Amino acid sequence: MAILVQKFGGTSVANAEKIRRAAQRALQAHKEGYQVVVVASARGKQTDHLIADAKELNDAPPRREMDMLLATGEIQTVSLFAIALWDMGQKAISFTGQQAGFMTDDAHSKARIERLEVGRVRGMLDEGHIVIVAGFQGINAVGDITTLGRGGSDTSAVALAAALGAERCDIYTDVDGIYTTDPRIYTKAVKMEQISYDEILEMANLGAGVMHGRSIEFGKKYNVPIYVRSSLNDNPGTLITHEVPHMENILVSGATIQRNLAKITLLGVDNKPGNAATIFAHLASKRVSVNDIIQTEVSAEKANLSFTVAHSDLDVARQAITDIRSQVHCSSVAVRDDLAEVSVVGVGMQSHYGVAEKMFTALAHKQINIDSITTSEIRISCLVNLEQAETALIAVCDAFELDKPAAERQV
Ligand code: ADP
Ligand code: ASP
Ligand code: MG
Repeated sequence: MAILVQKFGGTSVANAEKIRRAAQRALQAHKEGYQVVVVASARGKQTDHLIADAKELNDAPPRREMDMLLATGEIQTVSLFAIALWDMGQKAISFTGQQAGFMTDDAHSKARIERLEVGRVRGMLDEGHIVIVAGFQGINAVGDITTLGRGGSDTSAVALAAALGAERCDIYTDVDGIYTTDPRIYTKAVKMEQISYDEILEMANLGAGVMHGRSIEFGKKYNVPIYVRSSLNDNPGTLITHEVPHMENILVSGATIQRNLAKITLLGVDNKPGNAATIFAHLASKRVSVNDIIQTEVSAEKANLSFTVAHSDLDVARQAITDIRSQVHCSSVAVRDDLAEVSVVGVGMQSHYGVAEKMFTALAHKQINIDSITTSEIRISCLVNLEQAETALIAVCDAFELDKPAAERQV
Protein backbone atom coordinates (compact mmCIF):
# COMPACT_ATOMS: atom_id res chain seq x y z
CA MET A 1 0.00 0.00 0.00
CA ALA A 2 1.39 3.42 -0.92
CA ILE A 3 2.16 5.81 1.92
CA LEU A 4 1.33 9.51 1.80
CA VAL A 5 2.70 12.05 4.29
CA GLN A 6 0.62 15.18 4.79
CA LYS A 7 2.09 18.07 6.78
CA PHE A 8 -0.14 20.83 8.16
CA GLY A 9 1.43 24.11 9.27
CA GLY A 10 0.24 26.29 12.14
CA THR A 11 -2.40 28.30 10.29
CA SER A 12 -3.84 25.11 8.79
CA VAL A 13 -4.67 23.75 12.26
CA ALA A 14 -5.29 27.06 14.05
CA ASN A 15 -8.72 26.16 15.47
CA ALA A 16 -11.21 23.30 15.77
CA GLU A 17 -12.79 23.96 12.39
CA LYS A 18 -9.41 23.96 10.62
CA ILE A 19 -8.30 20.80 12.42
CA ARG A 20 -11.53 19.14 11.29
CA ARG A 21 -10.92 20.27 7.71
CA ALA A 22 -7.34 18.99 7.79
CA ALA A 23 -8.55 15.70 9.29
CA GLN A 24 -11.00 15.37 6.41
CA ARG A 25 -8.14 15.67 3.93
CA ALA A 26 -6.28 12.89 5.73
CA LEU A 27 -9.41 10.75 5.80
CA GLN A 28 -10.01 11.35 2.08
CA ALA A 29 -6.50 10.13 1.22
CA HIS A 30 -7.04 7.10 3.45
CA LYS A 31 -10.28 6.33 1.60
CA GLU A 32 -8.41 6.63 -1.70
CA GLY A 33 -6.25 3.73 -0.51
CA TYR A 34 -3.20 5.42 0.99
CA GLN A 35 -1.66 4.68 4.35
CA VAL A 36 -1.62 8.21 5.75
CA VAL A 37 0.87 9.84 8.10
CA VAL A 38 0.08 13.37 9.22
CA VAL A 39 2.75 15.68 10.61
CA ALA A 40 1.36 18.73 12.39
CA SER A 41 2.71 22.01 13.75
CA ALA A 42 1.60 23.92 16.81
CA ARG A 43 -1.75 25.67 16.37
CA GLY A 44 -1.69 29.21 14.96
CA LYS A 45 0.90 31.34 16.73
CA GLN A 46 1.18 28.98 19.70
CA THR A 47 4.98 28.64 19.41
CA ASP A 48 5.36 32.44 19.52
CA HIS A 49 3.04 32.63 22.52
CA LEU A 50 5.05 30.02 24.40
CA ILE A 51 8.27 31.90 23.66
CA ALA A 52 6.66 35.10 24.99
CA ASP A 53 5.57 33.24 28.15
CA ALA A 54 9.15 32.15 28.77
CA LYS A 55 10.57 35.62 28.10
CA GLU A 56 8.26 37.07 30.74
CA LEU A 57 10.16 34.98 33.25
CA ASN A 58 13.69 35.06 31.84
CA ASP A 59 15.33 37.13 29.09
CA ALA A 60 17.64 34.27 28.14
CA PRO A 61 15.81 31.05 28.96
CA PRO A 62 17.93 27.87 28.88
CA ARG A 63 17.59 26.14 25.51
CA ARG A 64 16.84 22.74 27.05
CA GLU A 65 13.86 24.18 28.94
CA MET A 66 12.65 26.02 25.83
CA ASP A 67 12.60 22.73 23.93
CA MET A 68 10.50 21.14 26.69
CA LEU A 69 8.10 24.06 26.52
CA LEU A 70 7.82 24.45 22.75
CA ALA A 71 7.30 20.72 22.15
CA THR A 72 3.99 20.99 24.01
CA GLY A 73 2.56 23.13 21.18
CA GLU A 74 2.79 20.32 18.62
CA ILE A 75 1.62 17.69 21.12
CA GLN A 76 -1.61 19.62 21.64
CA THR A 77 -2.29 19.66 17.91
CA VAL A 78 -1.67 15.98 17.22
CA SER A 79 -3.85 14.74 20.06
CA LEU A 80 -6.69 17.06 18.96
CA PHE A 81 -6.21 15.87 15.38
CA ALA A 82 -6.57 12.23 16.44
CA ILE A 83 -9.60 13.10 18.56
CA ALA A 84 -11.20 14.72 15.47
CA LEU A 85 -10.51 11.63 13.34
CA TRP A 86 -12.04 9.26 15.89
CA ASP A 87 -15.15 11.45 15.79
CA MET A 88 -15.29 10.77 12.03
CA GLY A 89 -15.18 7.05 12.72
CA GLN A 90 -11.53 6.69 11.72
CA LYS A 91 -8.92 4.83 13.77
CA ALA A 92 -6.14 7.31 14.61
CA ILE A 93 -3.19 7.60 16.94
CA SER A 94 -1.01 10.57 17.81
CA PHE A 95 2.70 10.36 18.57
CA THR A 96 5.24 12.72 20.07
CA GLY A 97 8.52 13.01 18.16
CA GLN A 98 10.05 10.45 20.50
CA GLN A 99 7.20 7.95 20.06
CA ALA A 100 7.53 8.34 16.29
CA GLY A 101 11.25 7.48 16.54
CA PHE A 102 12.98 10.83 15.94
CA MET A 103 16.49 10.52 17.41
CA THR A 104 18.50 13.76 17.21
CA ASP A 105 21.80 15.21 18.34
CA ASP A 106 21.74 17.34 21.49
CA ALA A 107 21.85 20.82 19.90
CA HIS A 108 18.83 22.17 21.74
CA SER A 109 16.70 24.58 19.63
CA LYS A 110 18.39 23.52 16.38
CA ALA A 111 18.85 19.78 16.65
CA ARG A 112 19.57 17.59 13.64
CA ILE A 113 17.88 14.26 13.04
CA GLU A 114 20.42 11.44 13.38
CA ARG A 115 18.15 8.41 13.11
CA LEU A 116 14.52 7.68 12.54
CA GLU A 117 13.08 4.45 13.92
CA VAL A 118 9.74 4.07 12.19
CA GLY A 119 8.75 0.61 13.44
CA ARG A 120 5.94 1.84 15.65
CA VAL A 121 4.55 4.18 12.97
CA ARG A 122 4.57 1.33 10.44
CA GLY A 123 2.87 -1.02 12.87
CA MET A 124 0.02 1.42 13.49
CA LEU A 125 -0.39 2.09 9.75
CA ASP A 126 -0.60 -1.65 9.10
CA GLU A 127 -3.35 -1.89 11.71
CA GLY A 128 -5.36 0.66 9.72
CA HIS A 129 -4.70 3.82 11.75
CA ILE A 130 -4.00 7.26 10.46
CA VAL A 131 -0.83 8.20 12.37
CA ILE A 132 -0.41 11.80 13.49
CA VAL A 133 3.10 12.86 14.45
CA ALA A 134 4.17 15.98 16.33
CA GLY A 135 6.50 17.89 14.01
CA PHE A 136 9.58 19.89 15.01
CA GLN A 137 10.65 17.63 17.88
CA GLY A 138 12.77 14.63 18.73
CA ILE A 139 14.81 13.19 21.53
CA ASN A 140 18.56 13.17 22.17
CA ALA A 141 20.75 10.31 23.35
CA VAL A 142 20.03 10.93 27.04
CA GLY A 143 16.28 11.13 26.51
CA ASP A 144 15.78 14.90 26.58
CA ILE A 145 13.35 16.57 24.19
CA THR A 146 14.96 18.57 21.40
CA THR A 147 13.50 20.80 18.69
CA LEU A 148 14.68 21.21 15.10
CA GLY A 149 14.61 25.01 14.71
CA ARG A 150 11.76 27.33 13.74
CA GLY A 151 9.76 25.92 10.86
CA GLY A 152 11.20 22.46 11.56
CA SER A 153 7.95 20.51 11.09
CA ASP A 154 8.61 20.51 7.34
CA THR A 155 11.80 18.60 8.07
CA SER A 156 10.00 16.11 10.33
CA ALA A 157 7.52 15.46 7.51
CA VAL A 158 10.01 14.99 4.69
CA ALA A 159 12.32 12.87 6.88
CA LEU A 160 9.40 10.61 7.75
CA ALA A 161 8.38 10.40 4.10
CA ALA A 162 11.96 9.38 3.24
CA ALA A 163 12.20 6.78 6.03
CA LEU A 164 8.83 5.28 5.13
CA GLY A 165 9.44 5.30 1.38
CA ALA A 166 6.33 7.45 0.93
CA GLU A 167 5.02 8.19 -2.55
CA ARG A 168 4.98 11.93 -1.82
CA CYS A 169 5.07 14.49 0.96
CA ASP A 170 2.33 17.11 0.76
CA ILE A 171 3.03 20.35 2.61
CA TYR A 172 -0.23 22.14 3.40
CA THR A 173 0.26 25.80 4.23
CA ASP A 174 -1.38 29.23 4.01
CA VAL A 175 -0.18 30.05 0.48
CA ASP A 176 -1.01 28.27 -2.79
CA GLY A 177 2.57 27.12 -3.32
CA ILE A 178 6.05 28.50 -3.76
CA TYR A 179 6.10 31.96 -5.31
CA THR A 180 8.93 33.85 -6.98
CA THR A 181 9.27 35.69 -3.67
CA ASP A 182 7.30 36.17 -0.46
CA PRO A 183 3.85 37.26 -1.75
CA ARG A 184 3.19 39.11 1.51
CA ILE A 185 5.92 41.60 0.60
CA TYR A 186 5.76 41.54 -3.21
CA THR A 187 2.09 41.11 -3.94
CA LYS A 188 2.78 40.70 -7.68
CA ALA A 189 4.84 37.52 -7.08
CA VAL A 190 3.79 34.54 -9.19
CA LYS A 191 3.41 30.93 -8.21
CA MET A 192 5.79 28.39 -9.72
CA GLU A 193 4.44 25.08 -10.98
CA GLN A 194 7.75 23.39 -10.26
CA ILE A 195 11.04 24.29 -8.65
CA SER A 196 14.28 22.32 -8.32
CA TYR A 197 15.54 21.09 -4.96
CA ASP A 198 18.71 23.16 -5.47
CA GLU A 199 16.86 26.41 -5.99
CA ILE A 200 14.36 26.05 -3.16
CA LEU A 201 17.14 24.87 -0.84
CA GLU A 202 19.10 28.01 -1.60
CA MET A 203 15.95 30.16 -1.24
CA ALA A 204 15.00 28.48 2.06
CA ASN A 205 18.47 28.98 3.50
CA LEU A 206 18.34 32.63 2.42
CA GLY A 207 15.11 33.37 4.25
CA ALA A 208 12.18 32.02 2.17
CA GLY A 209 10.23 30.83 5.20
CA VAL A 210 7.80 28.76 3.15
CA MET A 211 10.04 25.68 3.60
CA HIS A 212 12.57 24.66 6.24
CA GLY A 213 15.95 24.26 4.52
CA ARG A 214 16.81 20.87 6.05
CA SER A 215 13.58 19.40 4.69
CA ILE A 216 14.79 20.05 1.16
CA GLU A 217 18.12 18.35 1.89
CA PHE A 218 16.22 15.22 2.94
CA GLY A 219 13.93 15.42 -0.07
CA LYS A 220 16.82 15.73 -2.50
CA LYS A 221 18.93 13.01 -0.90
CA TYR A 222 16.12 10.46 -0.67
CA ASN A 223 14.18 11.48 -3.81
CA VAL A 224 10.99 12.46 -2.02
CA PRO A 225 8.69 14.47 -4.28
CA ILE A 226 7.44 17.41 -2.19
CA TYR A 227 4.22 19.15 -3.14
CA VAL A 228 3.55 22.53 -1.50
CA ARG A 229 -0.09 23.61 -1.56
CA SER A 230 -2.78 25.48 0.31
CA SER A 231 -4.91 23.88 3.01
CA LEU A 232 -7.61 26.49 2.32
CA ASN A 233 -8.42 25.56 -1.29
CA ASP A 234 -7.76 22.96 -3.97
CA ASN A 235 -5.66 25.13 -6.29
CA PRO A 236 -2.65 23.42 -7.85
CA GLY A 237 0.50 23.92 -5.78
CA THR A 238 4.25 23.71 -6.49
CA LEU A 239 6.13 20.46 -7.03
CA ILE A 240 9.72 20.34 -5.79
CA THR A 241 11.73 18.02 -7.98
CA HIS A 242 15.20 17.42 -9.44
CA GLU A 243 14.83 18.84 -12.94
CA VAL A 244 12.49 21.56 -14.05
CA PRO A 245 11.88 22.05 -17.80
CA HIS A 246 14.03 24.88 -19.30
CA MET A 247 15.55 25.72 -15.93
CA GLU A 248 18.92 26.62 -17.51
CA ASN A 249 17.20 29.39 -19.47
CA ILE A 250 15.67 31.04 -16.44
CA LEU A 251 18.11 33.65 -15.20
CA VAL A 252 16.57 34.27 -11.80
CA SER A 253 13.89 32.00 -10.39
CA GLY A 254 13.25 33.72 -7.11
CA ALA A 255 14.26 36.38 -4.62
CA THR A 256 14.47 36.29 -0.85
CA ILE A 257 14.80 38.50 2.16
CA GLN A 258 16.43 37.50 5.41
CA ARG A 259 15.86 39.68 8.42
CA ASN A 260 17.15 38.88 11.92
CA LEU A 261 20.73 38.90 10.72
CA ALA A 262 23.72 40.33 12.52
CA LYS A 263 27.18 41.02 11.17
CA ILE A 264 30.22 40.69 13.40
CA THR A 265 33.49 42.21 12.21
CA LEU A 266 36.86 41.47 13.76
CA LEU A 267 39.16 44.36 12.88
CA GLY A 268 42.91 44.03 12.59
CA VAL A 269 43.36 40.32 13.19
CA ASP A 270 46.77 38.84 12.46
CA ASN A 271 47.03 38.02 8.75
CA LYS A 272 48.60 34.60 9.11
CA PRO A 273 47.71 31.00 8.35
CA GLY A 274 45.46 29.34 10.89
CA ASN A 275 43.74 32.40 12.33
CA ALA A 276 40.47 32.00 10.44
CA ALA A 277 40.50 28.30 11.34
CA THR A 278 40.91 29.18 15.04
CA ILE A 279 38.02 31.63 14.97
CA PHE A 280 35.55 29.43 13.10
CA ALA A 281 36.50 26.26 14.97
CA HIS A 282 35.69 28.08 18.21
CA LEU A 283 32.37 29.34 16.85
CA ALA A 284 31.53 25.82 15.66
CA SER A 285 32.34 24.38 19.09
CA LYS A 286 29.73 26.79 20.49
CA ARG A 287 27.27 25.61 17.81
CA VAL A 288 27.01 29.00 16.10
CA SER A 289 25.78 28.65 12.51
CA VAL A 290 27.75 31.10 10.41
CA ASN A 291 26.18 32.33 7.17
CA ASP A 292 28.45 34.46 4.98
CA ILE A 293 32.13 35.12 5.64
CA ILE A 294 34.15 37.97 4.15
CA GLN A 295 37.86 38.49 4.81
CA THR A 296 39.83 41.43 3.49
CA GLU A 297 43.55 41.99 3.77
CA VAL A 298 44.38 45.48 5.09
CA SER A 299 48.17 45.04 5.08
CA ALA A 300 50.74 42.28 4.96
CA GLU A 301 50.25 41.85 8.73
CA LYS A 302 46.59 42.56 9.33
CA ALA A 303 43.16 41.55 7.98
CA ASN A 304 39.52 42.32 8.76
CA LEU A 305 37.13 39.42 9.03
CA SER A 306 33.34 39.68 8.96
CA PHE A 307 30.63 37.06 9.21
CA THR A 308 26.87 36.99 9.58
CA VAL A 309 24.80 35.00 12.05
CA ALA A 310 21.12 34.80 12.92
CA HIS A 311 20.03 37.10 15.78
CA SER A 312 19.26 33.97 17.79
CA ASP A 313 22.98 33.08 17.74
CA LEU A 314 24.29 36.61 18.32
CA ASP A 315 24.85 36.46 22.08
CA VAL A 316 26.67 33.14 21.90
CA ALA A 317 28.73 34.34 18.91
CA ARG A 318 29.67 37.58 20.67
CA GLN A 319 30.83 35.66 23.74
CA ALA A 320 32.78 33.21 21.58
CA ILE A 321 34.64 36.07 19.92
CA THR A 322 35.40 37.68 23.28
CA ASP A 323 36.93 34.33 24.38
CA ILE A 324 39.45 34.19 21.54
CA ARG A 325 39.97 37.83 20.66
CA SER A 326 43.38 38.11 22.23
CA GLN A 327 44.51 34.80 20.73
CA VAL A 328 44.10 36.20 17.18
CA HIS A 329 45.26 39.71 18.18
CA CYS A 330 42.04 41.38 17.09
CA SER A 331 42.20 45.13 17.75
CA SER A 332 38.42 45.71 17.94
CA VAL A 333 35.06 44.07 17.26
CA ALA A 334 32.10 45.75 15.56
CA VAL A 335 28.56 44.35 15.62
CA ARG A 336 25.62 45.45 13.46
CA ASP A 337 22.21 43.96 14.09
CA ASP A 338 20.23 46.31 11.84
CA LEU A 339 20.94 44.58 8.54
CA ALA A 340 19.00 42.30 6.22
CA GLU A 341 20.07 40.24 3.25
CA VAL A 342 18.31 40.40 -0.11
CA SER A 343 19.20 37.66 -2.58
CA VAL A 344 18.37 36.45 -6.07
CA VAL A 345 18.54 32.74 -6.85
CA GLY A 346 18.59 30.88 -10.15
CA VAL A 347 20.31 27.82 -11.58
CA GLY A 348 20.40 29.64 -14.93
CA MET A 349 22.73 32.38 -13.69
CA GLN A 350 25.65 29.93 -13.90
CA SER A 351 25.64 30.30 -17.66
CA HIS A 352 24.52 33.92 -18.12
CA TYR A 353 26.20 37.30 -17.75
CA GLY A 354 24.94 40.50 -16.20
CA VAL A 355 22.88 39.28 -13.26
CA ALA A 356 25.00 41.07 -10.67
CA GLU A 357 25.01 44.31 -12.67
CA LYS A 358 21.22 44.23 -13.00
CA MET A 359 20.75 43.67 -9.28
CA PHE A 360 23.17 46.43 -8.24
CA THR A 361 21.62 48.88 -10.72
CA ALA A 362 18.13 48.17 -9.35
CA LEU A 363 19.36 48.91 -5.82
CA ALA A 364 21.25 52.03 -6.90
CA HIS A 365 18.12 53.45 -8.55
CA LYS A 366 16.42 53.28 -5.16
CA GLN A 367 19.42 54.90 -3.43
CA ILE A 368 20.07 51.74 -1.47
CA ASN A 369 23.61 51.32 -0.23
CA ILE A 370 25.07 47.81 -0.25
CA ASP A 371 26.99 46.91 2.91
CA SER A 372 28.50 43.74 1.48
CA ILE A 373 27.99 41.22 -1.30
CA THR A 374 28.31 37.43 -1.36
CA THR A 375 27.76 35.06 -4.23
CA SER A 376 27.58 31.38 -5.10
CA GLU A 377 27.08 29.73 -8.48
CA ILE A 378 23.34 30.12 -8.18
CA ARG A 379 22.81 33.21 -6.01
CA ILE A 380 23.82 36.81 -5.38
CA SER A 381 23.17 38.32 -1.95
CA CYS A 382 23.45 41.90 -0.76
CA LEU A 383 23.44 43.04 2.85
CA VAL A 384 21.45 46.27 3.17
CA ASN A 385 20.03 48.38 5.98
CA LEU A 386 17.05 46.65 7.55
CA GLU A 387 14.70 49.57 7.00
CA GLN A 388 15.46 49.56 3.26
CA ALA A 389 15.25 45.80 2.84
CA GLU A 390 11.65 45.52 1.60
CA THR A 391 12.18 48.35 -0.88
CA ALA A 392 15.30 46.54 -2.04
CA LEU A 393 13.44 43.26 -2.50
CA ILE A 394 10.67 44.91 -4.50
CA ALA A 395 13.18 46.75 -6.72
CA VAL A 396 15.05 43.53 -7.43
CA CYS A 397 11.84 41.61 -8.17
CA ASP A 398 10.76 44.30 -10.64
CA ALA A 399 14.18 44.27 -12.32
CA PHE A 400 14.05 40.52 -12.89
CA GLU A 401 10.33 40.56 -13.79
CA LEU A 402 9.42 38.17 -11.00
CA ASP A 403 5.83 39.30 -11.42
CA LYS A 404 5.64 37.27 -14.66
CA PRO A 405 5.75 33.52 -15.30
CA ALA A 406 9.28 32.49 -16.33
CA ALA A 407 8.31 31.91 -19.98
CA GLU A 408 7.09 35.52 -20.38
CA ARG A 409 10.13 37.27 -18.93
CA GLN A 410 12.35 39.39 -21.18
CA VAL A 411 15.35 39.15 -18.81
P1 ADP B 1 3.31 27.04 7.89
O1 ADP B 1 2.86 27.48 9.23
O2 ADP B 1 2.25 26.41 7.07
O3 ADP B 1 4.56 26.19 7.96
P2 ADP B 1 4.91 29.33 7.14
O4 ADP B 1 4.48 30.64 7.71
O5 ADP B 1 6.07 28.64 7.77
O6 ADP B 1 3.65 28.37 7.09
O7 ADP B 1 5.23 29.50 5.59
C1 ADP B 1 4.30 30.10 4.72
C2 ADP B 1 4.65 31.57 4.52
O8 ADP B 1 5.93 31.66 3.88
C3 ADP B 1 3.75 32.32 3.61
O9 ADP B 1 2.63 32.84 4.27
C4 ADP B 1 4.64 33.42 3.02
O10 ADP B 1 4.44 34.67 3.63
C5 ADP B 1 6.04 32.97 3.35
N1 ADP B 1 6.92 32.93 2.18
C6 ADP B 1 8.19 33.41 2.13
N2 ADP B 1 8.73 33.23 0.93
C7 ADP B 1 7.79 32.62 0.17
C8 ADP B 1 7.77 32.17 -1.19
N3 ADP B 1 8.82 32.31 -2.01
N4 ADP B 1 6.63 31.56 -1.63
C9 ADP B 1 5.57 31.40 -0.83
N5 ADP B 1 5.54 31.81 0.46
C10 ADP B 1 6.64 32.42 0.97
N1 ASP C 1 5.83 25.30 15.58
C1 ASP C 1 7.19 25.46 15.12
C2 ASP C 1 7.42 26.90 14.71
O1 ASP C 1 6.52 27.71 14.81
C3 ASP C 1 7.56 24.49 14.04
C4 ASP C 1 6.83 24.65 12.73
O2 ASP C 1 5.81 25.35 12.66
O3 ASP C 1 7.26 24.07 11.73
O4 ASP C 1 8.48 27.23 14.31
MG1 MG D 1 6.58 26.65 8.12
